[in-house]
Amino acid sequence: MTQALRSYDPASGDLVGEVLRTSPEEVPAVVAAARAAAPGWGARSLAERLELLERAAPRLEAEVEALTTLVTREMGKPTKDARGEVSWIAKSFVDTCRQIAASLEPEVVTRGSRRSTVHYVPHGVCAAITPWNFPLMMPHWLALPALVAGNTVVLKPSEETPLVAQRYAELIGVDLPEGVLQVIHGEGDTGRALVAGDVDLIAFTGSRAAGREILASASQGLKRVILELGGKDPLIVLEDADPEQAAAFAAKNGFGNAGQVCVSTERIYVDRSIAERFEEALARIAGEVQVGPGDQPGVTLGPLVNATQKAHVEAQVKSALSEGARLLAGGDAREGNFLSATVLSECTHEMGIMREETFGPVLCVTRVDGAEEALRLANDTPYGLGAVVYGGDLARAEAVAARVEAGMVGVNRACGGVEGTPWVGAKQSGYGFHGGVAGHRQFAIPRVVTV
Ligand code: NAD
Repeated sequence: MTQALRSYDPASGDLVGEVLRTSPEEVPAVVAAARAAAPGWGARSLAERLELLERAAPRLEAEVEALTTLVTREMGKPTKDARGEVSWIAKSFVDTCRQIAASLEPEVVTRGSRRSTVHYVPHGVCAAITPWNFPLMMPHWLALPALVAGNTVVLKPSEETPLVAQRYAELIGVDLPEGVLQVIHGEGDTGRALVAGDVDLIAFTGSRAAGREILASASQGLKRVILELGGKDPLIVLEDADPEQAAAFAAKNGFGNAGQVCVSTERIYVDRSIAERFEEALARIAGEVQVGPGDQPGVTLGPLVNATQKAHVEAQVKSALSEGARLLAGGDAREGNFLSATVLSECTHEMGIMREETFGPVLCVTRVDGAEEALRLANDTPYGLGAVVYGGDLARAEAVAARVEAGMVGVNRACGGVEGTPWVGAKQSGYGFHGGVAGHRQFAIPRVVTV
């Protein structure tokens, strides 16, 4: 029986709105509609698909403020950050469509008298399953490349942020033929039914645990998967780094979005020779972070998405403290879903908080003797999404960065690469990837025609 899925404001607990939940039993009919629409959509030229999709750009531009308010209300992030997420998508929408399309143009390879043309053809039906931490960006990053590539899409956004995703799909979908972009709402069981359904490609962003389950299910039909999973990102602070600058970066990258970013800094390995100055600066900056509802002026740290997430973070901190970590900032009890910006020092490699993803506003510091020890500890993890190295000698810091086992490593900056490079996780942080020419092409299959 279909029921309402309600969405609540994590700052106040107020009801923001509701959508219809799709039960697992209802999923096959939705997928069948996507299957029926797939040949027609896939047969259109790239130019035709682009023309229909690009019409969404002015609609998104017109709704930047409304979507910003909705992102803050539904997910909790401060208004400035919400506006950043929404306006970037609106402004770059047409460019993004064209970059994806350019990656999918046929390529011709000639050898002697033979000529091969590599066509990038759609998979068919794409299941796009997304998390809540960037409630607009995540559906956008998965649904748009799939659609440009000629797949039909069934989007299953997070049950925490159904309203933002629903609105995105409505704005994109106005001019698309029936069945090309559909949204279903529900929890993990709805996602499971979608993965097990008659889909050809599963594009998923979320936790490592769900990713593992999806891969196992997809293996039954040898379905294609693109998994962008969790992280436990290290920051290595070398002995010649400016401790103030490194601390300012750590705070920004650790407390932004209340630490609920897959590439948030979570573990810090700081050279012992500058550790005291670094920790002092970090504790001071953390103490200045303003916590509160995301729509209040001056607030940079909003609520966690829900009580479960808060309890998970608090339990990790409590356990680390009981094992000998020292509290340098935060850690105080707060009402509702709020947590203070928290800094722990004297963290040891064995602590759970240094090994499992936290996804909260907590920075954990370990003092190390030199870059080799930092690298050994930073790399001793099943995760491998992002990492950052801070150092005064840029060439040396870059050489250290090249030895970090992660998909994206920043030197004296955040880990994301320049436009056109992939968003990619190494080890168990990813399986397939997106972004850049190679990433966009994963939403299609090469078909080689040779004459
Ligand atoms: P989650 O894995 O719990 O849920 C993600 C989505 O998958 C939701 O829509 C959920 O309903 C659905 N789902 C859950 N179990 C499923 C299953 N077995 N089969 C199919 N669908 C299922 O993750 P979350 O709590 O929403 O998001 C936080 C996680 O996402 C963190 O681990 C974070 O690091 C990760 N993340 C990664 C990236 C990246 O680019 N690598 C980006 C953002 C978030």
